[in-house]
Amino acid sequence: MHKWIIIGGGIQGMTLATFLRKQKGVTPEEMAIIDPHEEPLSEWKRCTEAISMPFLRSPFVHHLDVDPFSLNRHAKASPFSEDASFLGRFKRPSLLLFHEHCEHLVREQEIRRSWIQGRVESVKRLENGWQIHLENGSLVRGANVVLAIGAGEQLHWPAWAQQLQTDSPGSIFHVFDKELPKFDASQAPFTIIGGGITAVHLTLKLHKQFPGQVTLLKRHPFRVHDFDSDPGWLGPKYQQAFRKTRSYTQRREMIGHARRKGSIPRDLNARMRKQLRQFPELVADGHVSRVQRQQNVTSLIDENGTLLRQTGTVILATGFQPQLPGHDWLSPVIEEQRLKCAECGYPVVTQTLQWGPGLYVMGPLAELEVGPIARNISGAREAASRILQVH
Ligand SMILES: Cc1cc2nc3c(=O)[nH]c(=O)nc-3n(C[C@H](O)[C@H](O)[C@H](O)COP(=O)(O)OP(=O)(O)OC[C@H]3O[C@@H](n4cnc5c(N)ncnc54)[C@H](O)[C@@H]3O)c2cc1C
Repeated sequence: MHKWIIIGGGIQGMTLATFLRKQKGVTPEEMAIIDPHEEPLSEWKRCTEAISMPFLRSPFVHHLDVDPFSLNRHAKASPFSEDASFLGRFKRPSLLLFHEHCEHLVREQEIRRSWIQGRVESVKRLENGWQIHLENGSLVRGANVVLAIGAGEQLHWPAWAQQLQTDSPGSIFHVFDKELPKFDASQAPFTIIGGGITAVHLTLKLHKQFPGQVTLLKRHPFRVHDFDSDPGWLGPKYQQAFRKTRSYTQRREMIGHARRKGSIPRDLNARMRKQLRQFPELVADGHVSRVQRQQNVTSLIDENGTLLRQTGTVILATGFQPQLPGHDWLSPVIEEQRLKCAECGYPVVTQTLQWGPGLYVMGPLAELEVGPIARNISGAREAASRILQVH
């Protein structure tokens, strides 16, 4: 019987693992991290590498370790040069440095000894804890379970895109598809659908590889914000009013207003503007509502029937679906244990993120308690601190 079982070894789960090791002295054997991948942070690495994101959006104090200055110290002690490692006045770390720091923590805390590769298909309540069933038939038992499964497995595909994929597989992808092909093998020109940070990074990356063959098709002007929610959400400025709000429908609305979806930071906007001066066709405006595919050409058409563009390959940078992650396998336990959910389907939890006896949530699942920062690294740090308050 483990003391702690963490389901999901992404940014959220690994932050909690580090906090448990360092702040509570939990040994690697007392903790189990269950995740379908071979290694920690696989989804994070896959997504950030797919778009070749050079720097994180978040500042240097947001990382997996307990001490906010840990990443800074790590940079000083390693061969990274300050100039190459951090960007701008918020000192946003390079992806390379961030990964190196994560790997250092995993090594230092021997977290791989807690790693169990597998996918959870159900959880059952025992008298003194929980029993976790994996798809491969194994069982893992623990006193406390933390759901840190992220939203990365539910990609958003608009209806017209689903239709195109069915009719013409290979002509459309989502940038975060697990089986994303090498773009050299795909048919140019490329049209990227989206308008946020992922779409812009991807456009700049592909434009370098295929100059003059890439267009970003967006449905709103660039929304320029350094962070994806106001930094006031990191502290009492906005959190106090959020916590005082008793209605979860209202909390969901507050999250919706606060999250700057589809926004890009200033430096990325400047990089895009620079390219646009030379290649004005790199960006176009329009909202696709249907498509036609003929002789390897996809025509993207708006709601008025206007042809927006013709393209070889469509790449979606349309983010993730909003519904409850893990809904299929969580539904039975929600029913059996009468776990409280809000109208939006998300967990209603205590301030220490407890959903049921010894059952905790992090990341998107903790959104109604942690607020708009829940999905980010800062939200992972906040969630880990809150869960540790009770133990
Ligand atoms: C391109 C990109 C850049 C980002 N940049 C930043 C940034 O700079 N700063 C910031 O703060 N945030 C950033 N974010 C937001 C956020 O920090 C990341 O999305 C982060 O990866 C979320 O971590 P997570 O642990 O919730 O999810 P994930 O990284 O997806 O990890 C969840 C893990 O749970 C596993 N899992 C799911 N279901 C099961 C199951 N049934 N059984 C076992 N395991 C399961 C998944 O396979 C996965 O490995 C970025 C997001 C993206 C997509």
